[in-house]
Amino acid sequence: MTRLLIMGPPGSGKGTQAVRIADKMAIPAISTGDIFRYNVKELTELGREAKSYIDSGNFVPDDVTNRMVADRLNQSDVAHGFLLDGYPRTSGQVEALSEMLQNQGEILTAVLVLEVPDEEIVERLLARAETEGRSDDTEEVIKRRLELYHQETSDLIEAYLELGIVGRVDGTGAIDDITERLLQTIYNIRARTGTLPAVKPRNEK
Ligand code: ADP
Repeated sequence: MTRLLIMGPPGSGKGTQAVRIADKMAIPAISTGDIFRYNVKELTELGREAKSYIDSGNFVPDDVTNRMVADRLNQSDVAHGFLLDGYPRTSGQVEALSEMLQNQGEILTAVLVLEVPDEEIVERLLARAETEGRSDDTEEVIKRRLELYHQETSDLIEAYLELGIVGRVDGTGAIDDITERLLQTIYNIRARTGTLPAVKPRNEK
């Protein structure tokens, strides 16, 4: 069972790495940003609720986001674990997640933190704006997203530090190298916290 969080500023490559890591571990990558964008595109009620927040670079309110994640974590493909990308981002979300896990008697395996300097982030997101055309990749909205990350999200890592499950990873360089660093970090945390899958000693009767 592997339950992972991936955190990091917008544009740090969370989404790209989340899919790779999840694939490797055979667990679903759950991106709250992707779920919101899908709902905006499909004009669902959730999408209508979320759109103005996303377009201005602000957080969708916790009650909406928490309900959505709780629903997603109740689906059957999550039975063997999950990787959450972009959640939690507020202290209210940290609390909600810890309640969801507690109710199921579950614990997190690792919290991965991708570190990329702000200057590189802005460059990456402006470059992405030209190719992907995301509505929130304008210079002004990028600034707001980064500001919110530093104000509200980066400090949340501390809540997980005392559990000894945080791994900070350099998010610059080649995509493959970053994936390798992340996998190694997960392995190291599991070895340290004793959540490596048990291997039966050969001579045991
Ligand atoms: P990024 O991390 O690059 O900002 P995401 O795709 O993860 O992009 O998120 C896009 C937008 O979706 C956010 O700016 C926010 O409006 C909304 N969103 C995603 N996750 C959350 C969350 N956990 N809480 C509140 N809003 C969220």
